[in-house]
Amino acid sequence: MKYLFANWKMYLNFSESMILANQLATMSYDTEKIQLGLFPSTLAFTEVEKLFRGSPVCVGAQNVGWTPKGAYTGAVSAQMFKEAGATYALVGHSERRYIFGETNDDVKKKFDACLDVGIIPILCIGETKEDLEAGKREYRLKKQLMTVLEGVSKDAQFFVAYEPVWAIGTGEACDHLQAAEIHDVIKDELNTYTSQSIPVLYGGSVNDENVVFYLPHQSIDGFLVGSASAERDHVHSLLAAVLAA
Ligand code: PEP
Repeated sequence: MKYLFANWKMYLNFSESMILANQLATMSYDTEKIQLGLFPSTLAFTEVEKLFRGSPVCVGAQNVGWTPKGAYTGAVSAQMFKEAGATYALVGHSERRYIFGETNDDVKKKFDACLDVGIIPILCIGETKEDLEAGKREYRLKKQLMTVLEGVSKDAQFFVAYEPVWAIGTGEACDHLQAAEIHDVIKDELNTYTSQSIPVLYGGSVNDENVVFYLPHQSIDGFLVGSASAERDHVHSLLAAVLAA
């Protein structure tokens, strides 16, 4: 089983989201081999979720607030997303960390809030170009894991997405051999915190041409895809590539 998770970010307005969602709803693929997850904007979330309710396609939140309810202008809580049918939520996406200033502590609160309400958090981690050039890649990843996972129940269900910041939205995907090596490092590190087998996804400029290089690697359980996931033909070719592997 491979996971193909589509992070639509802020690429699609409401009607564009519904057009793409309806197109994807008519696609048939082997659901034993691939789990498709969609992460629409908050605006489109409830309608997309309604469309796929009861189907093998899961719908998730791009971001959550950690407090269930209250005076938090602009926020939508993990609890509200759960009530609206979310299976997953992204937490710690690098755009949240570096554009919106989220700290590791904020990411921890969001991660814990997801677990509390029964949403499976997808913890996004990744080094910056500066980390990479300074030889601090593993240090950064281990720190991001530690801040969030220390104290979490060993039975907790979650995913990790390895998304090098320099590879997101740049067209400069991480070499597949390097990515597979880093996934092994992450999986080793995860043994400190969990007794579960945690899926680790790769994200960063994945498209229908380069996805084939990552597919043979056992340590890469699937993909978190941004721009290539916001267009029907690309999603179709991504699904076809994963199924052909
Ligand atoms: C992402 O934002 O999670 C991502 C991987 O984006 P892109 O595929 O566009 O690099």
